[in-house]
Amino acid sequence: MQSSFSLSFSQPTTVPRSNHTFDSLPFAPSKPINLRFCGLRRETLGFFSLSRSHSCRGLQLPSPTRSKTISASLADNGSTPKSFDYDLVIIGAGVGGHGAALHAVEKGLKTAIIEGDVVGGTCVNRGCVPSKALLAVSGRMRELQSEHHLKALGLQVSAAGYDRQGVADHANNLASKIRNNLTNSLKALGVDILTGVGTILGPQKVKYGKAGFPETIVTAKDIIIATGSVPFVPKGIEVDGKTVITSDHALKLEFVPDWIVIVGSGYIGLEFSDVYTALGSEVTFVEALDQLMPGFDPEIGKLAQRVLINPRKIDFHTGVFASKITPAKDGKPVTIELIDAKTKEHRDTLEVDAALIATGRAPFTNGLGLENVNVVTRGFVPVDECMRVIDAHGNLVPHLYCIGDANGKMMLAHAASAQGISVVEQVTGRDHVLNHLSIPAACFTHPEISMVGLTEPQAREKAETEGFEVSVAKTSFKANTKALAENEGEGLAKLIYRPDTGEILGVHIFGLHAADLIHEASNAIALGTRIQDIKFAVHAHPTLSEVLDELFKSAKVEARVSSQVSEPVAV
Ligand SMILES: Cc1cc2nc3c(=O)[nH]c(=O)nc-3n(C[C@H](O)[C@H](O)[C@H](O)COP(=O)(O)OP(=O)(O)OC[C@H]3O[C@@H](n4cnc5c(N)ncnc54)[C@H](O)[C@@H]3O)c2cc1C
Repeated sequence: MQSSFSLSFSQPTTVPRSNHTFDSLPFAPSKPINLRFCGLRRETLGFFSLSRSHSCRGLQLPSPTRSKTISASLADNGSTPKSFDYDLVIIGAGVGGHGAALHAVEKGLKTAIIEGDVVGGTCVNRGCVPSKALLAVSGRMRELQSEHHLKALGLQVSAAGYDRQGVADHANNLASKIRNNLTNSLKALGVDILTGVGTILGPQKVKYGKAGFPETIVTAKDIIIATGSVPFVPKGIEVDGKTVITSDHALKLEFVPDWIVIVGSGYIGLEFSDVYTALGSEVTFVEALDQLMPGFDPEIGKLAQRVLINPRKIDFHTGVFASKITPAKDGKPVTIELIDAKTKEHRDTLEVDAALIATGRAPFTNGLGLENVNVVTRGFVPVDECMRVIDAHGNLVPHLYCIGDANGKMMLAHAASAQGISVVEQVTGRDHVLNHLSIPAACFTHPEISMVGLTEPQAREKAETEGFEVSVAKTSFKANTKALAENEGEGLAKLIYRPDTGEILGVHIFGLHAADLIHEASNAIALGTRIQDIKFAVHAHPTLSEVLDELFKSAKVEARVSSQVSEPVAV
């Protein structure tokens, strides 16, 4: 956690993992900045990208940063080193680094991973894992509190209650368990875990060390940066870790406030609103943009608002910035100054019990030594499609890659891991480009939201630029037997596609187990499966997967079957 990290090191190796405040950035940018939590940046959508050769060999940077292609095996003095300590050194043992390390071992690479804090990074210790433990509790509380829902199933339950410390322990214990699993898997596979902050000294050379111990230098044929991200706290907000908190603090569930303001209505804010309202808090969202949940497909966002926000003890202010937040002190509440996002005029002052800052995440590169390889960054580490790091002159830095939250392409655990695997494929000789449009995302509210590919507005923008038609098909959970049996018929699945070719451009689901259902669509996109083919796949009845079956069957595709389906012979 933050404190243990800061305590572990002293200058010059101290890398405080504090909340990241950009003094140089306005607290609320007029244009969305690339500080997304679980979103695609524009270049990932292909609106701005490298020439998509779908190859990492000899790939050139686009004008105006066009440069020479990557050269092989440069040592820091320009000569070719005879041997290295490792084939691969990874800096950061979060899910990205872990995924890369496991794949590297499978490929026979001698691998080391440098970690300055604890194995597991954000996801395991301060992100996906503890938040899903809290959401498992909030889901059950919600169900037990819904008299209407229970009555419909013929159930009677006396008043539901919870033990705050017990809930907090569940989240903490789960994080410890997964962290141990990850650490043991690295050790069992023979990955060297090197403890301390990793600093790049030059091409293919890294030093690491713990405070008070001599530093060690290691060389590697290839280096992967996987240093992740920290909460982004806008200017003017004072985080005290008790009444004004980030997700890092909230996951410890040290108290359940009666009234909490959540600044930011993206995934993190929305998931915490699910947790807090189930545990009895009232929530007020403060959102800079004109609508809540700006990252979602607008139609899904509207439905989510109708189900996840309106009937709950949640209100909201949109089009406003929290320009100043002061923690509670001496009996005074947390005060929040709201100003108009456009005019910057004062709109309101809120006095509440707590404020959770969920305004996105900032890359963490402190102490990494990027300057030693001439990489300049005021935000995410610049990389090309193949995760190769780009220096200040637009050249590719030989043998240096960056994956996961630190490059900001798609700030999700499984994206970080997939990027790591992709890099390992490349360094072991296979030409591999990860298709980010096939990577699913999910928000684990009750019910869940999931998505893959483009939103409808993004698909229409792309269609206009490239000159093709877009169609949309939808199916409701109300027609699904399994959903109705669970008394959970509220839900929608939406397919955005090309009617001329049957290509799936995006799928968005709101409803029971949406996070599990999305994979049929994401796998189809990853494998290039067309609707006219997948619509013949058979789904077990009665299952929620039939929602997608219906969805694909309802699409009107002009193209005929694009690949022959060979039926297996029954025996
Ligand atoms: C509340 C919350 C909920 C989330 N829920 C989900 C979810 O449900 N699903 C999902 O897919 N994603 C989720 N995420 C996002 C996910 O946690 C991140 O996308 C993921 O952890 C990024 O992995 P990473 O490997 O890039 O970085 P990290 O997991 O942040 O790991 C980076 C590691 O590098 C170490 N490090 C940094 N600098 C150095 C250095 N110089 N030397 C040595 N070590 C260093 C750090 O200590 C850390 O261990 C959530 C995030 C949050 C905050």
